[in-house]
This record gives sequence, structure tokens and C-alpha cells, in this order.
Amino acid sequence: MNSGKIKFWGTRGTFPIAKTDMLKYGGNTSCIEVISPSSEQKDSSVIIDGGSGIVGYGDQAWEKGIRNYHIIFSHTHYDHILGFTKFLPLFQQNSHISIYGQTKNGLTIKDIFEKFFSFPFFPVTYKNLSAKLTFQEIKHGESTVINDIEFSFQSLNHPQKALGIKGMFKNKDSFVYATDHEHGTPLDNELSTFCQKSNLLIYDSSFCNENFKLGWGHSTSSQGALLAKKSDCKSLGIFHHEPDSSDEILEKILLPQAQDIFPDSFLCMEGRTFNLSTLLYDDLLTT
Ligand SMILES: [Zn+2]
Repeated sequence: MNSGKIKFWGTRGTFPIAKTDMLKYGGNTSCIEVISPSSEQKDSSVIIDGGSGIVGYGDQAWEKGIRNYHIIFSHTHYDHILGFTKFLPLFQQNSHISIYGQTKNGLTIKDIFEKFFSFPFFPVTYKNLSAKLTFQEIKHGESTVINDIEFSFQSLNHPQKALGIKGMFKNKDSFVYATDHEHGTPLDNELSTFCQKSNLLIYDSSFCNENFKLGWGHSTSSQGALLAKKSDCKSLGIFHHEPDSSDEILEKILLPQAQDIFPDSFLCMEGRTFNLSTLLYDDLLTT
């Protein structure tokens, strides 16, 4: 396996849902696994965001024997961290978890997690977590290498800030994870440069053209399509599905609005693995 892959463990935005008409594309919130050819050799895996989707990931990874985890946070709003409270490796002694995130208003990513695991929000406080935790600050314009993948970071337009994350594999396959972001500021041009020629753009498509809400910090599938087209990306993953969007709404409204502009658009689907070289799900066609 020489190509990079992205597994979608959580594709929903804002809040997890369990309605039967919404489960085709998934009810768990933001979490993706970044799979490189060297991941398994190194007993090490890379995850972006810890929404409720990270629970299923953690159970499976621990069972497989993975003991080293790198988790990059785009930001720390609840829908991107809430799964951490049931992330099995966090409660295991021979587990090593490296956490990457932005400092916010003087609070480091470590400070933020100490607050998250504190009285009276959760019974296990930070100092009682079993895993060995290390923290690394990430910033706009900087980069870091994990599992032979170069990760770089781009500011997004979101209340209290968020980072877009690009992963560049050794074979030059690349993806950009750009959620949560509202279009319409000069950051769009920076983001376009950041996305240039990516194999996959995973984009905040919380809204369709008709229900877009100005100032909420989110975007539309058609804006994602315009960005993918302008940036010469090879595919667009419609992501951060609203809890109000049924599978039918995603298929009949958000997907066509993107494909009218950028035909190589698809709906990110929980549980599926997207191959960055073939531009297909491992077991499903993307279009
Ligand atoms: Zn979100």
C-alpha cells in the first residue's frame, strides 16, 4: 500500500445525531484517520479532531495493538473534542498520546485539556488520566512531520479561530482538511493557495445555498466546489454535515449544488476509507 488514505470516523458537524434517515453518511462528529504506508510499521497513527467519531476509532485501534497516537485538533469546540471522554487509549497506562493544537487567548492546548477534564464536567480529572500525554502547539504557517507525512496549518474564518490542516505524503499525494470555515474574507485566497493541487479537499459544507447563515462560521458545498475548482484540486469531500440534514437532503441538494460547479465532489461517509491516489473509496465509487 503506497498511497495515502483518509478514513472518515465522524462526518457530522455541530452535534452527534442518531436519526435513522441520517445514518447513511453518519451521525458522529468530526474525526478522520490519516493513514500512511508507514503507520502500521511504526505502531503509530494520526487522527484529526476528536469528535464523537474518535470513540469507534479508539476501540478499534487499541484492539489492533496501536499504542502511539498523534491527534491534531483543528480547534476545540465541543463537536471536535467530545469523543475524547470515551477515547479508550486515554484510559490505558501503556498508551502514549501526542496532542497538537492552537493556543487560544493565552490558554495552551494543554491548559484547554486540563479544563476539559475537570470538576464538575467529568468524573476523571486530567491528573488521573492513565495515558502518557504530550502536547505540541501548532500555528498558522508552520509545519510538522508525523509518520512521514508533512502537516502544515492555515488560519480559517471561524469564531474563536480554527486551523485548516494539510497533509503531504512522501509520494506527493496530499489532502486539505478545511472545517470549520466561513467563506467571504481575504482568508479565502490564502486557503486557495494552501489547497493548490491537493488530491482531496475536505470542506465545511454545513449549509446549502438556501440555508446559509452569515456569521455562523460555516460554509456551503457550492463554496467548497468553487474553492476546489479554483485551487485545481482533484476531488472535493463534502463534510461537517448539519444535524438537520437528512441523507436525502445531502444527496438531492448539497451534492448536486457542488457537482454543478465541480463534478468530482462526493459526500464524506462515516466508516469509509478514501484512497488519495485512486480518488475512490476503497469499496465504493465516489460519484
Ligand atoms: Zn464543527
